[in-house]
Amino acid sequence: MAFESLANRLQSAFDKLRGRGKIDETVVNEAMREVRLALLEADVNFKVVKDFVARVKERAVGQDVMKSLTPGQMVIKIVNEELVELMGGSVAQLTMAHRPPTVIMMAGLQGAGKTTTTGKLAKYLQKQNRKPLLVAGDIYRPAAIKQLQVLGEQIGAPVFTLGDQVSPVEIAKQAIAHAKENNLDVVLLDTAGRLHIDEALMDELKQIREVAKPDEILLVVDAMTGQDAVNVAESFNSQLELTGVVLTKLDGDTRGGAALSVKAVTGKPIKFAAMGEKLDALEPFHPDRMASRILG
Ligand code: GDP
Repeated sequence: MAFESLANRLQSAFDKLRGRGKIDETVVNEAMREVRLALLEADVNFKVVKDFVARVKERAVGQDVMKSLTPGQMVIKIVNEELVELMGGSVAQLTMAHRPPTVIMMAGLQGAGKTTTTGKLAKYLQKQNRKPLLVAGDIYRPAAIKQLQVLGEQIGAPVFTLGDQVSPVEIAKQAIAHAKENNLDVVLLDTAGRLHIDEALMDELKQIREVAKPDEILLVVDAMTGQDAVNVAESFNSQLELTGVVLTKLDGDTRGGAALSVKAVTGKPIKFAAMGEKLDALEPFHPDRMASRILG
């Protein structure tokens, strides 16, 4: 299960606080040393861990213990609140255009789950009475267009394609015009993935952004890849100015590093979490629920 070892490690750190009458600096330091190790082992970014521990310590030391809580519970409460903050505080909503169509550009490295997530997001939007258009903008991977068409069929959403001989920039432009003509109010642009970030990819994405003027640029990253996911998010963000991140594969046994570091490192919120291969396995990312999951 995801976060299992992190949850266990934190539990044992907090067990040591049990039965303590008062939170003094030694007690807090001892507990936070373990929390620090637990977070590092979970592949949380080093700087993020350092700041996190400092914040918890500052709040915990000298804090009057609320009458209803033991010192251990008090520290757990602070850790919980800081974890929620670290992951963005509250649910980050999608920005919808005042005048439709809303354009959502999907980006990500190959295998992160970008195309699947595009289909899931379309389904999610349908449930909110939106009419999404899926746009096949990944013309380089032979199977990508077909994959999107199959997804579109499964959820009953139209798919816009011009085959693989027209540039993705032109596809984006025509897709948006098509959406306007057909009263489709959200355009989901699937874009090319690569194995690694390269300049040609970034240039193409920038050109699509120029033309499509997206309301959202969502980067899809695989939570299982931990710090790599965070590094990918950081470089995409510096080049493209993302509006949010979608974390996929949270159903796997991710240690948690990506979920806990992405927001702090990039400043961009995690907007959705994908927890499985099925098309309804996508939900808005709830920092508070994720923190509860981590703290067991
Ligand atoms: P793309 O190359 O980024 O477009 O990636 P795909 O959408 O083709 O997904 C790559 C693989 O990851 C596929 O086998 C998907 O079924 C799988 N996948 C995507 N999202 C999730 C998820 O949230 N959980 C799990 N377990 N698998 C996922």
